[in-house]
Amino acid sequence: MKRTRKTIVSVALATSLALSVSSTYTAAAPVAQTSSSQAYYNAVDKKVINKINVENIYNDIDFLAKTPRVAGTEAEHKAALYVQKQLNSFGYDAKLEPFKFVGYTEASKVELSVDGTSYSPSSFTYSVSGNVNAEVVYAGLGTKEELANQDLTGKIALIQRGSITFGEKVLNAAQKGAKAVIIYNNAEGELNGTLGGANDLYVPAVSLSKAAGEQLLEKVKAGSVTATVTIEGAEVSERTSYNVTATKAPTEKKRNTDDIIVIGAHHDSVEGAPGANDDASGTAMVIELARVLKSLPTDTELRFVTFGAEELGLIGSHEYVDGLSQDEKDRIVGMFNLDMVGSRDAGDLVLKTADGKANFVTELSQASSLRLNGVATPYAEGGRSDHVPFAEAGIPAALFIHDPSEPWYHTPEDTIDKISKEKLQDVAEIVGTAVYDRARPDHKGPKAQKGQSFKAPELYYQQDSK
Ligand SMILES: [Zn+2]
Repeated sequence: MKRTRKTIVSVALATSLALSVSSTYTAAAPVAQTSSSQAYYNAVDKKVINKINVENIYNDIDFLAKTPRVAGTEAEHKAALYVQKQLNSFGYDAKLEPFKFVGYTEASKVELSVDGTSYSPSSFTYSVSGNVNAEVVYAGLGTKEELANQDLTGKIALIQRGSITFGEKVLNAAQKGAKAVIIYNNAEGELNGTLGGANDLYVPAVSLSKAAGEQLLEKVKAGSVTATVTIEGAEVSERTSYNVTATKAPTEKKRNTDDIIVIGAHHDSVEGAPGANDDASGTAMVIELARVLKSLPTDTELRFVTFGAEELGLIGSHEYVDGLSQDEKDRIVGMFNLDMVGSRDAGDLVLKTADGKANFVTELSQASSLRLNGVATPYAEGGRSDHVPFAEAGIPAALFIHDPSEPWYHTPEDTIDKISKEKLQDVAEIVGTAVYDRARPDHKGPKAQKGQSFKAPELYYQQDSK
């Protein structure tokens, strides 16, 4: 893909849902239903299904997916305002909840030339910009011990990958006076890494493949070598993103269960991708389900949330969960995360949980899909989206997604023309009836089971930092 100027961290491309080969899914054991309970459920489910208008979902996707909605940009702010406006048009009091994060604008130009020879380096996420012309000095692995007796003042340090993080290597070399750093790979392939976070003490840092690095090292060993490192356009700054929240209090005050169900999606996209499926589809479905459920009697609090900055590392959903009181965490019995729910070109619907186990959300959804489609939607382990912070807080949560992902994932081709109304309708029905199964005043569905809090093991991928 052509390198373009980006106003996001390049982790964004890797952070979220990756194209993945389907793993083994677990299908539910079919639950035998008596004909009377079938008739009963038919009537209950119809209350939701009859209200869903897929055109609303489609039209909201169409509006949101006119442009990319990168977190921290005006386009994301506009998307959040649109979600708020739609929710308020149904009678909600939707709020924009701003939060700050440190954003990084990727370099627009990264160059390295050595005595007239041009290399093709990459930059590190969080590297600073700069233009340095100096002698190249080999600095081993760049550990504090190795550099103890080395003076790198005014030099460019050539450092091999390994042992410590890229960020530590750059800081160690800068502390010894280096003006720039070149880190080369210790394994085959390009090195596309991150310094892990912003730091004022960094000097410009570029990466090379193992072959290119070793070639440069040969030159350095053979005699004095002068190089020019150029990084332009890289910038770190504090930015603001938003979560949008709307709440429906239980209408049945006397039968209030005191429980909460969260239905969420992320409204931000990656740079360059209009994100019709990722995740205007989930955002628009949250809006429509908020409309559908608004007029139905309920005994459980419903929260509709669209998150910002998911693509930069689930920042908005982390903010949201961090902002919950323990009492709220205890009361949330399910979090339904809708992320990429309408692509014509993706596979079948699956439910993904952070620990790969069934929970209250998968139980409700398997029951509803079995009722509606005759087949329970399977579940499997999967992270990399906004259900993860909820799962880590012990809240039963599941991601709704079609798997495998479409080829347009995170590309400029993720546009409205690839959206399937049939898929939108199917997911909206499964989620809407699953939520209503629990939220209606006379609910008889499975009993809520609290999850165990745990740390998701690297379920959302970050760039290499070491
Ligand atoms: Zn997404």
